Order: sequence, then structure tokens, then C-alpha cells
Amino acid sequence: MPVEDLMVVDTSPYIRPLATLIEDYETFGLVILDNHRARIYVVSSGRIEEKDKLARDIMKKHKKGGMSQARFQRLRVGAIEHFLKEVADEMVKLFSKDNVVKIVIVGPGNAKILLKDYLPNELKNEILDVIDVDFDEADGFLISRAEEAVMKDEKETVSKNVIRLKEEILKHGLAVYGLKETIDAVKKGHLELLLVSKGYKQRGWICEKCQLVDSDITDKCPNCSGKVSQVDVIEEIIEFAERTGTKIEFVDDNPILQELGGVGGLLRFKI
Ligand SMILES: [Zn+2]
Repeated sequence: MPVEDLMVVDTSPYIRPLATLIEDYETFGLVILDNHRARIYVVSSGRIEEKDKLARDIMKKHKKGGMSQARFQRLRVGAIEHFLKEVADEMVKLFSKDNVVKIVIVGPGNAKILLKDYLPNELKNEILDVIDVDFDEADGFLISRAEEAVMKDEKETVSKNVIRLKEEILKHGLAVYGLKETIDAVKKGHLELLLVSKGYKQRGWICEKCQLVDSDITDKCPNCSGKVSQVDVIEEIIEFAERTGTKIEFVDDNPILQELGGVGGLLRFKI
């Protein structure tokens, strides 16, 4: 994926563009399916990779001479069920390997609906969208349709999380907001989710010795008198989040989050 040109001089790697990219282009699984063919893809950072192609000879709609219509139907249905089970098993194998947490299923007819019955619950819950299209339609088209569905879901999740943040703050629950509180919580690994207004930057400093971070300007750390470096405080928050395994969401102009100081987070537990 192309990223914006940017030069940053910092005491540690500047990771915000990468963190944003990962969040914007979440990895998802794409399955194109009819009742005898399936293609399984993993789409990651806008890149598509074909993982598997399955095709089974399922009896055509016309029965052979001598076989009763009912028997023919039974055999045909059995063959389709067997095929769908195979596809489901492949999905379990491939998607768990690639840490896929969102799935889009596309194809004609009701094979894509029937497939759900063969998926374990954890995969069933990851299905984001089921789209009706012809199997042979261009892959590129399908991918952009699937990508749209994933992005739409991501946007909805983000605004839901901002609302959750506000609700938690109002009831003095599991939330922090504003620079100071957020820095403190993220450093200690107390955050489950960090929410940052996209593009928000705040000039400040970090103490190289005791890792104290604050906004504004100083030449000496008020805590340990150590040497400080000028930094973007938001970038430091993002780095702390990465180090403590906190999920990060970048929020597009959201007035609620801006009102709360552009940054906040949901706590893992009450502090
Ligand atoms: Zn210090």
C-alpha cells in the first residue's frame, strides 16, 4: 500500500502511519462459492492472496436413465452437502492460520447460506456480509465490494466505541480521556482500546530516563531531572499502546471524541 511521504526525526521508530494502515485495512477472509466450486482468499492491507481453490464434480440437474428422480435428488443433495463441509473445513484451517476475524461470503444461489450450517460458531460469528453475485464475475469487483463491507463495519464499530467511551465516562466507569489520564493508563497497560482522533498531534516531551511524557515544553524532567526529547505526545501514546498490546482505533472527525480532548480509552478493569 502506498503511504504518504513524511520525514520524522524521533528517538524511536515513528509508527503512526503503519498503525493507521493496519487499522484501515483489516485482514479479512473472502469466500466465493456456488454449489460445486469455491475459492478462498485472504485479503490483507488491500492485497489479495488466493489460499485455496476447490471444485467438485456435482451431478448435473439431469438424472441418468434408470435412476429414480427421488434417488437422484438425494445423491445430488448429499454430494453438495459433502462439498460444503469440505469448504467449511478449509476455511477453519486457513482462516485460523492467518488470524482472520472477518469473513465475507459471495456467490450465486443458496450455497452461501447453506455453508453457514457447516461452520463452527466462532467462524459463523465472524461473517460480516453475504453478497449475491455470479461466480464468474471479476475478482477485482468482488474484492472491492467485500472491502466496502469491511470498511463500513469498521466505521460503525468505531463510532459505537466512541459512544461507549462517553457513556463510561458519564457513569464514572471503565474509561479515561484527555492526555494525562490516557498516557497514565496506556503506559500501565490498563487500556483495552485506545481511541485517537485521526491526524491529532500534540507537541510535548519524553524523558529518556524515566519515560515520563507530557505536553508543552521543558528542558529537564520534573520527575528525575533526566534529559528530555521533543516528541509528538500522541505518537508516544500510540507506541505505548503497541508495546502493551492495546488495540488502537483512529477516529475520523468525531465531535464527541474531539470534545473529550481527541484521545481516550476503554479500561480493561476498574482502576
Ligand atoms: Zn524522568
